[in-house]
Amino acid sequence: MRLKSLIVLGISLAITDYAPCAAKVYDQASMNDTIPDKYFNNREEKLFPTSFNPPLTDNGGQPPFKYPFALSPRNIYANGWARQVSARELSISKKMSGVQMRLIMGGVRELHWHVDSEWAYMIYGEARVTAVDELGRAFVDDVKQGDLWFFPGGVPHSIQGLRNGAFFVLVFDNGMFNPLQTFGLSDWLNHIPRDVLAKNFGVSKSVFNNLPRKSLYIFGAEFPKPLAIERAEAERGTGPMPHSLAFFASKMKPNVTLCGGEVKIIDKNNFPATNTAAAIVRLKPGTIRELHWHPNDDEWQYYIEGEGRTSVFYGNGQARTLDFQTGDVGYIPKSLGHYVENTGNVDLVFLEVFATPYYEDISLGSWLAHTPTTLVNSHLHTGLNFLKSIDKDKTPIRE
Ligand code: MN
Ligand code: MN
Repeated sequence: MRLKSLIVLGISLAITDYAPCAAKVYDQASMNDTIPDKYFNNREEKLFPTSFNPPLTDNGGQPPFKYPFALSPRNIYANGWARQVSARELSISKKMSGVQMRLIMGGVRELHWHVDSEWAYMIYGEARVTAVDELGRAFVDDVKQGDLWFFPGGVPHSIQGLRNGAFFVLVFDNGMFNPLQTFGLSDWLNHIPRDVLAKNFGVSKSVFNNLPRKSLYIFGAEFPKPLAIERAEAERGTGPMPHSLAFFASKMKPNVTLCGGEVKIIDKNNFPATNTAAAIVRLKPGTIRELHWHPNDDEWQYYIEGEGRTSVFYGNGQARTLDFQTGDVGYIPKSLGHYVENTGNVDLVFLEVFATPYYEDISLGSWLAHTPTTLVNSHLHTGLNFLKSIDKDKTPIRE
C-alpha cells in the first residue's frame, strides 16, 4: 500500500513539476541540456547571448569590458540629471570615465571646473556652452545633435539646454573621475568670507546677500540671449579663444564613406583645441568595423544607437566576446585586437574615444597587405592569391 502511494506520488510529482514546463534547450550547439526556463534570468541572458553561448574562438573567461548606463543610478535635479560609469563601476576603465547628462530647456550645468579634461558628444537636442581660458579669452557657442566639445582640464565652463534641452555623454581622461566632486562656482563662493569677496571685487558685502546657500550643480535659469549677443558680451576686452572648443561633427564630411557605413575622425588634426581623439562610426546591418588595435591609447566606447558585438583578443590564447546595446559603455585596453560587428537590423552608431590628441589604429588588413607575401603565407597557408588581393589602402568598414 505504502509502495503504491509512493509510486502514485512519484507520478503526480512528475506531472506537476515537469510536464507543464516545456524545458528550453539553451545550448543547442554543444549540449542536449534541458534546464527549466525559470532558473535563468531570461532577460539578461538575451542581452548577453555570447556569454551564454560564447563563440568557440572565445577562451579564458576575461571579466566583462562593458557597463550599461542603465545600471547607474541617476542623480536627479529639477532641471536635469546625471549618472556615471567610471572605474568604480567598470574596473577595466582605468584611464577614462563617462557621464550621461540631461538638461531640460533652460537647465544649466553650473559654472564649474575640474582637474580632468572633458570631451562631450551631443546625442540629442542642443546646448549653449561657455568657457574662459587662462588669458581671460572667451568661448561661447551652440552645439547640437552630432556635435562635440572639449574643455581642457582646469578651464571653467558651463552647459545650458536650449530648445528640446540637451542629452549628451561626457568623457573624462581619468578612470576615477567623480562628476559630483567638481569645483562649482556657488560652492566656492559660499566658502569664502564675505569681506574677502567684497575686497576681491571692490564692492560692498551686501552685493553677495543673495548668493545661493547650497551648490547649484544643475538648476533652472533664464533662457540665454541670442548667441551673437552673448558671445560679444563675453569676449569684450580679451577677445575669443584662438581655437574653438566646439567641433561641428554633424556637418563634417566623413573621413571614410563606404557602402557598409562611415567613419568620422575628430582629433588634433582637425580640432586643434582637443587633447582627446575620437571616431564616430556608423555601420550598416551585418557589416564590421575591421579587425584592428590602437597602439597609442585605451579605447572608451559608447553605443549611441543599435546593437553590436565585439571580440577582444588578450594574447596567450585568450579572447572574449560581448554584445552591446544603446547606452552601453565599452572599454578596450591599448593594443588589444578587436572588431565591432553590427548584429542588429538598423544602423549601429558608436563612439571610439581616446584620451590622447591623435587618433591611431593598426589594421590587420594593412599589416598583412604590407608584409612580404611569402612570409605571411608561411604563417597562414592561405595562398598568395588571397594575400595579394587584400586592400593596400585601409578599409575600416567591411561587409
Ligand atoms: Mn564639466
Ligand atoms: Mn577600436
